[in-house]
Amino acid sequence: MSKQYIFKKKLLSWSTKNTREYSWRNTQDPWKILLLEVISQQTQLDRANKYYQKFIKKFPSPSEMAKASKKEILKMWSGLGYNSRAIRLHEASKILSKSSFDSIYPDFDVLPGVGEYTKNALLSFAYNDKVITQDTNVLRIFSRFFGIEDPQKFINENQKNLLKNIRSRKFNEVLMDFGSEICKSKNPSCSLCMFDNECKKFIQVKQTRQQAFKGSNREIRGKIIKHLIDNNNVEMSSLKMVIKTEDNKLKNILKKLESEGMITIKNKKLIEIST
Ligand code: SF4
Repeated sequence: MSKQYIFKKKLLSWSTKNTREYSWRNTQDPWKILLLEVISQQTQLDRANKYYQKFIKKFPSPSEMAKASKKEILKMWSGLGYNSRAIRLHEASKILSKSSFDSIYPDFDVLPGVGEYTKNALLSFAYNDKVITQDTNVLRIFSRFFGIEDPQKFINENQKNLLKNIRSRKFNEVLMDFGSEICKSKNPSCSLCMFDNECKKFIQVKQTRQQAFKGSNREIRGKIIKHLIDNNNVEMSSLKMVIKTEDNKLKNILKKLESEGMITIKNKKLIEIST
C-alpha cells in the first residue's frame, strides 16, 4: 500500500466518528461558502458560526448584501475584527449581484478579498473540483506526515491522486477536523493519532528520544537494577562487563543508587539490591 493511500484511508476512517457538524457543510451554495470562508478567516469556527448565521439570515444572496450600506455591514461585522474583510465582501457582493458565480468560474480570485485558499474552497465545496484547500492546518499535516519541506508543491503535484474516487469536499473537511482535533499546531495529540507508525514527524521525534536515552544515566541505572534483580552478589568486574560504560560514569551512578538506598556495595566489590 502506498503512503498516500494509507494517509487517505486512515483519515477517512477516523472521520467516521470525528466529523464536526456545521450547517454550511451541507450546502453547495457558493454564496454561503464565500460568506463562511471570509468570516472564518483568523476566527475560531464556533465563533465564526454565530456571525455566519447572522449574515446568511440577513443576506441570503449577494443581491441583499449589495443593497445594504457599508455602515450596516460594519455594524453586523463588529467584534470580528479586520473590518477590511467586511468591506471587500461587500464589494464582492456588488459584483456578484450583477453577474454570478457560474459566470466567473473557476476564476473566483477576481472577486475582492478572494485569495488562493478561498478560491479553492469555492471550487471544492461548491463545484466539487479536485482541489485540496491549503490553509496552514492542512499544510502542517502534510508537512509532518510526509516529512516534506514544501507541502504546497507536494499537494499540487499529488492532489489528483489523493482525491481519486472521493469528493474533494469530504477530504478537505476531514483534514480541517483532523488539524483542529489531533494534529494541532502546538502539542499535537500523537498518542491519540492513528498515524503513529507512518508519520515521518512522529518517527523522527521517537528516534531522537531513543538516541537521547541511549547511553544516558537513566538507561544505565535501569540496566544495573535489572542485572542485580536477575543475579545475586554481583562482582564489580562482571557488572562493568555487562554495563559497558566508562568507569567513572558507572562509579557515580552506583554511588547515587547507593545513596538512594537502592543498592548495597559490600567491600567495594559485591553489589546487590538493598534489603
Ligand atoms: S503522529 Fe502526531 S505529528 Fe503525526 S500526524 Fe499524527 S498528530 Fe500529527
